[in-house]
Amino acid sequence: MREFVYRALPMQVTFARGSVGSLAEVVASIADGPALVLSTPEQSDLAQRVADALGDRSAGVLAEARMHVPSPTVERALQHAESVGAESCVAVGGGSTVGLGKAVALHSDVPVVAVPTTFAGSEMTPIWGITADGRKTTGRDARVLPRAVVYDPDLVDTLPVDMCAVSGLNAIAHAVEGLYAPDTSPVVRLMAAEGARAFAAALPAIGGDDDADARSEALYGAWLCGATLGATTMGLHHKLCHVLGGTLDLPHAATHAVVLPHVMAHNLVAATGAAAILRDVWGTTDPARYVQELARALDVPGSLAELGMREGDVDRVVEEVVASPYANPRAVKASDVRSIVVAAWSGATVGA
Ligand code: NAD
Repeated sequence: MREFVYRALPMQVTFARGSVGSLAEVVASIADGPALVLSTPEQSDLAQRVADALGDRSAGVLAEARMHVPSPTVERALQHAESVGAESCVAVGGGSTVGLGKAVALHSDVPVVAVPTTFAGSEMTPIWGITADGRKTTGRDARVLPRAVVYDPDLVDTLPVDMCAVSGLNAIAHAVEGLYAPDTSPVVRLMAAEGARAFAAALPAIGGDDDADARSEALYGAWLCGATLGATTMGLHHKLCHVLGGTLDLPHAATHAVVLPHVMAHNLVAATGAAAILRDVWGTTDPARYVQELARALDVPGSLAELGMREGDVDRVVEEVVASPYANPRAVKASDVRSIVVAAWSGATVGA
């Protein structure tokens, strides 16, 4: 018998090429006053173009977003938003920039509009994270959920091909863990399956003759995988990546890309419903192997060793994961986690 609870998140999503042009209307529907545009230093030109498109709704640009949302950056953004009288923030960028917008919303109630330029999916979630004294604290809070998200496929044209690959695999991880999450539901499964399908079709085509269409399809997948992340509780894969990123400072998306097939090989044995859906959407008998072959074909880093992890760090990571595990389809035992981390560290072939 089916049993589930599904809670829809209150936000508006626009998906269209050129939709950044109508951002002023979106911002006006959320707050009366001007909007501060946030970005990383690398994306300041794009942020300025967005501010120009906002016209007299713009309160200027703050191009200071950084990876892991450092607390001094949050303080600075809060002060700046207040000094320019911002009544909303428009976060233009990847998970780091959206994360800064969320941190501002958490501490000031200034709402966020997200304009994503990667496939990370943070824009669809009420999850925030702030790093202080070398420790990243995360939480869920309805105030940080962007009130509106504007997906404009033109904005991912500049994302380097290697970043598309790791960012896409990061998004597929949300779909995989959403399929076997304890709080999954029929609607979430449909979103996750369609997101996983879209990425598997799009990622190999990025950089080829149909580059623009493939990037657009991947951004569509990012919406669905991000919505899955926002609606469910993630499992062992996300916990492992959180620990690897937090304790060893490994790059976020690439870490997800390396670890995912190894956790899938372990978890899908127990998550038979999720495995059946993935076999069906990808037309494969072995979804874990499929993801690893996709990653290898996309030429993403193949092991945690390649990302800079030392073998001597394995025990530390295992201890942290086991100390406070996330909900998972299989019990999180130290010996299993160790095997997964060692396999990901060395870049072993799954199922071999
Ligand atoms: P990122 O936001 O750190 O971006 C990486 C780099 O790519 C930056 O220099 C950025 O300026 C650049 N960039 C982004 N889009 C570009 C484009 N279209 N063209 C050229 N350059 C571009 O990377 P990310 O992977 O999107 O985000 C990672 C962060 O997001 C992590 O800290 C992670 O924890 C967080 N995250 C949070 C959630 C959540 O729900 N809270 C979800 C996913 C990720």
